[in-house]
Parts: sequence; C-alpha cells; structure tokens
Amino acid sequence: MRWHLKFWNCFRALAITCALVTLRVPPAGSQVAPSDASKPDSHGIAVSNVNHSVKPGDDFYQYANGGWLERTQIPADRASVGVFTALSDLSNKRTVDLIEQAAKGNAPAASDTRKIADLYNSFMDEVGIEAKGLAALRPHLQSIAAIHDRKELARALGESLRADVDALNNTNFHTANLFGLWVAPGFNDSDHYTAYLLQGGLQLPDREYYVADTERMRDIRAKYQAHIAAMLKLAGFDEPDARAKRVIDLEHDIAEKHISLAENEDIHKANNTWKPGDFAAKAPGLDWAEFFRGAGLTKQSSFIVWQPTAFTGESALVGSASLDSWKDWLAFHMVEAYADGLPKAFGDERFAFFGKILSGAQEQRPRWQRGVALVNRILGDAVGQIYVKDYFTPQAKAEVQSMVANITAAFRKRIDALPWMDPATNAEAQAKLTSLYVGIGYPETWRSYSAYEVKADDFFGNLWRSGLFEYHYSVRRIGLPVDRKEWCMTPQTVNAVNLPLHNGLNFPAAILQPPFFDPQAPPASNYGAIGTIIGHEISHTFDTQGSAFDSKGRVRNWWKSEDLEHFNAATAKLAAQYDTYKPFPDISVNGKQTLGENIADVAGLSAAFDGFHASLEGTPAPVKDGFSGDQQFFVAFGQNWGTKPRESALRQQVMTEPHAPAQYRADTVRNIDAWYPAFNIQSGDKLYLTPADRVQIW
Ligand SMILES: [Zn+2]
Repeated sequence: MRWHLKFWNCFRALAITCALVTLRVPPAGSQVAPSDASKPDSHGIAVSNVNHSVKPGDDFYQYANGGWLERTQIPADRASVGVFTALSDLSNKRTVDLIEQAAKGNAPAASDTRKIADLYNSFMDEVGIEAKGLAALRPHLQSIAAIHDRKELARALGESLRADVDALNNTNFHTANLFGLWVAPGFNDSDHYTAYLLQGGLQLPDREYYVADTERMRDIRAKYQAHIAAMLKLAGFDEPDARAKRVIDLEHDIAEKHISLAENEDIHKANNTWKPGDFAAKAPGLDWAEFFRGAGLTKQSSFIVWQPTAFTGESALVGSASLDSWKDWLAFHMVEAYADGLPKAFGDERFAFFGKILSGAQEQRPRWQRGVALVNRILGDAVGQIYVKDYFTPQAKAEVQSMVANITAAFRKRIDALPWMDPATNAEAQAKLTSLYVGIGYPETWRSYSAYEVKADDFFGNLWRSGLFEYHYSVRRIGLPVDRKEWCMTPQTVNAVNLPLHNGLNFPAAILQPPFFDPQAPPASNYGAIGTIIGHEISHTFDTQGSAFDSKGRVRNWWKSEDLEHFNAATAKLAAQYDTYKPFPDISVNGKQTLGENIADVAGLSAAFDGFHASLEGTPAPVKDGFSGDQQFFVAFGQNWGTKPRESALRQQVMTEPHAPAQYRADTVRNIDAWYPAFNIQSGDKLYLTPADRVQIW
C-alpha cells in the first residue's frame, strides 16, 4: 500500500481528465471527524465558516473558510485536513461499520462478504503476521538472489509487471516497478481495450526528488538512502549501506530517463504504437522477449508506449547497470511493496520515512483505519455494493440527475454562443455532450471478485494475490469491446472523475452528500457546491485533453486550427494567472502543470452558475442567513476548497500535482463576471481583474 501517493482507487490528473482532487491522505475511517468542515450549520452554506473580517475581494478563500481555518487543527496522523478528508472520514466511518459487520458475521465461503471479512481480519491479525516473520517474503528474495544473468533479470522484471498505473482516469503515473501496465480503451480504437505501458522504477513520488538540487531534496535523498538501508537490514541483508547506495544510485539514473509530470500530460506524445519486435530496436538493453514472457504478454500484438524516451533510457540501464545493483533494487522494491504483510518493524520504518519525512504526518494511523483503506482499495466494488444500499437514495439520484441536465444545457448554450468556434467543431462538441455517460451514485454493473482468493490467515498472500488478480483482470480485457458505462471509482469514494476514452463521468454516492449535495438545501448552495464539481468534470470533456478525444472517445483532433489558436490564447492567460500564485516565497504554482484543472474550475463555475439560474425559472433566489442567492452560490463554491495542509504536504502538492492548492481554486471566482456585483468587488481589491483579464474559456 503506497500511502504517500495516490493509491486510493481513482483520483489524480493533470491537464487530463481526472479526478476532482488528489486525495493523499489514506482514506481510512476515523472515530472522530477531525474537523467540522463537512458539517453544515443548517442546510446550505456553513455560515460559521465565513470570516467577515476579510474582504471577499481581497482573499475569497479566507472569506469563505476563515472561520473554519481559525478553529481547525491538523490531526497528528494527517498531512492535511479539509472538506474532502472530513467527508471521507464520514464515508469511511460508514464503510468500517460495514466491514466490521462483515468481519463478525459468518458469511458463506467464497462470497464477497466473506472475502471482505477475511481480508480485513487477515490484516488485523498482527500477532499472526509477526509470528510468520519473513517466511512469506523469503522465497521471493531467494528467487531474486538466484538471478545470475541479464536474461533471468529480464524475466524477473517482467514477472513484476502489474496493472498499477492509470494515465487518464485516476491519473496515476507512478509505479515502483520498472514499468506499469494500463489497460483502457485504445487511443486509436476506443471500441476495444488496449495495453498501454508507462515508465516506472522509482519509489519517491517523482523524478524531481532525485534530480532537483535544493536543500530539501538533498535532505530527503539522504534520509531515503538511510531508509533503504534500514529496510534491507530488517530483511536480513548484509552490507545494507552499500546496497542502499547502489539502489539510490540506480533510481537516480532511472529518474534522469523519466519525463516530467507536465510532459506526461501530452497525449499526442504518448500515442506511440510499438509492436513487440519494435522494443528491441527502439529500446535495446532489456531482453524484451524474456520480459514479455515473464509478464505473460507474449501473445500481445502491440502496445502503446507512453514515454518512449524513458523506455529507451530505462531499457539501456537494464543492460548497463551492474547485475548486483538491479538485484538489490528488486529486493528492496519487493520488501517495500509488501511491508504491510511483514512484522511491525517494517511498517514503522516505512512510516518513519514516507509518512513523517515525506508527508509531514506525525503519527501512523491506527491499524484498523489502514485496514479499511486496504479493503476499500482491493475489494472496492464489493464494499460499494453494500454501501449504496444503506446510504444512497433513488431520490438523491433523481435530483442530481436534474442538476446534471441543467448544467449540461448551460454548456450547450455556452458552446453555441462562442463567436470563434467553427460550426463543425461546435457540432462535435455538442455530439460529445449527447453521448456523454454521466454515472450517478454507483456503477450499472459490479465487478466480480470470484477469481480473487482470500485466506483469513494469510495477509501477505492476500496482498500478493490481489496484485496478480488486478493484473490478470487487466490482461484478460486486452482486445475486448469497451464497456462505456464502466466506473473507475468506488461509490464510497469522496471524489468525482472524468473518463475521456469512455466519454463518461462518475459521481460516486459518497460525494453526493452535505456539504456538496443536500436535498434539503437551497439550489444556490447545491449548484455552488456539487454543481460546480459536475461542471468541472463536464469541462474536462472539452479541455486541453478532452479536445483531443471525439464523441466516441477516439483520439482525433476535432478542432479547427483557428479554434485551437483561440483556445490556446485563452488558456495561456489562465496559466499566467496561476503562475503568479506563491504559497511560499520560494515556490510558485505551475500554471502549465495545473492548467487543465484550472480550466475545469473556471468552466464548471460558469456553467453551474447558469444552471443555477435556469433552475430558478425566473423566480428570485431566496435570501438565507443574510446571503443573497448568488452570494450563497459563490460561498458554497469557495467552501468546497476548505483545506489545511502541512507545509511539506503543500510543497509536495505544488511540485507533483495537477491540481492547484485549494486556496487558489477558491479564487477562481475572480474570472466570473457575476461574482463582482454579488460581493461589490471594486478595482482596488486584491483579486480584482479587469473584464479583459478575466479568463472565460467556454
Ligand atoms: Zn479535474
């Protein structure tokens, strides 16, 4: 379980798609919600979270959230706290009840409920795990030790391939294995599932951690090297320091071959079809035939290679770096990946580095919370199926569907009204809206876990088999017709996602609750909260990445070049706006890296505002708690982003993530004309933009 990263089912993204937020806190439950961010004062905006001593035009984020920020502490076991984490806590509290219920019952063997129970109980069996010691790990380390040439190395590297990356939906570009497999609709044939291969090989979150020449990064690298040595020592290796040096040196060399996160986002550069025979010619060094044999992919006729230069570079390293370096690297990665299934000392050491040093958390979360997160990750649909029976009503589904209809209609009108858009481009944009699948609450079909074997007394094995289960599930789908209504997020996830190759959206049940959605709240706050999120996800179907996918999910440039010029000019202005934001004096938001998400925020806000006004059908919105309808709308949006991160977590976010820090997402309002009269914003106010500087994409 990689908790310093985005392991939780779906989230992430850069310009691409993506989930609405990147949840970096492990979504395990908690007894006490660490904040009241998700608790409305009544139904509607959280009035007590507003800070009236701040002018909305100077700092809208502080205005909407200052009261909450003032009274909120980050719990010791967290890297950050906010609306999303608080709602995740609620969802996880419910989930843990379901799981504990399952764990107590005596469900029939091989049923999903029994698997939930056995997986959870096996993780909670600390005494059993401690007693087994290194027994389950040893055979794996022995096979690594037995590697005596590059051919066997290639085979082992192939055997370690897992379906643990996702370039467009959950947008997780990170795997610690040499490469990662992602099976999804094809760039060039979106009717069938295709095999994508992505760069990998690093334990730290991104190449910058290895190559950046800053004091903090040098410090992290020194501590990381000590961590490698500590893990290898625990696993019984001699000369742990020398081995650790070899591992970090090799990872540094791999990092130099990686392309950056921002570059990963350019799908046109990613659309590289390689036949099996191309690999040896284009990326010599690794014995590819042996690699594919190890990976069980010998029958595969082609792959899409996302980062060709990284494949060339990493493959060359497999041929040139010493065999001992690779064996130490394989062993360390094995220990790291399965630390949860090993005695407590391994997990503690992992937390000391990845939790404390890298993310700034002070305490490890209770084991049961991590157990819930794990069950959610491995058996997410099985848990979700029970979850929605208890926590999602058909009425909620119907209401959200009507909001989706209003916001979609707003997008149609906005696109129709664009003076610069060519009629053919407009027609394809409208077709994308027509074929868009909007999933509300939960998937139409549930995932089967019949091929996943879970044993109540074998946590290491359960973990090992879950990786293989996912992998085999993905490999089996290659070439099959695409299910356009499939989901990539579980219903109990507090998030939302756009799937560009499916032309689909997922809004899980767990985000469709207060403060994002409350059937008893006025439309103003529902549209400002969940409405802007719905609009955000719809916008991704047209944004920098979405404009590259047509109404059938194919990679096809459906824009005229003049359309693209106008679009690029408008988006460049938005990138420049975000480049000016500085969370710390020495670090700025990267406007290019966060562009797709920022466009989605602007567009989502605009369309939701229109949808809100359409829903009023000409009647004025009621004033509530002294806030006009428009004020409630914008404050609800600002409160979506109430977040308090630790400094190290915020720095990591700025460096590695597609989403701008929450405070700047709230300030998106400065691009919307209607925000100015709603709060009487004047030209001297800090967030004031002249009408010409306000960015409107759609
Ligand atoms: Zn997004």
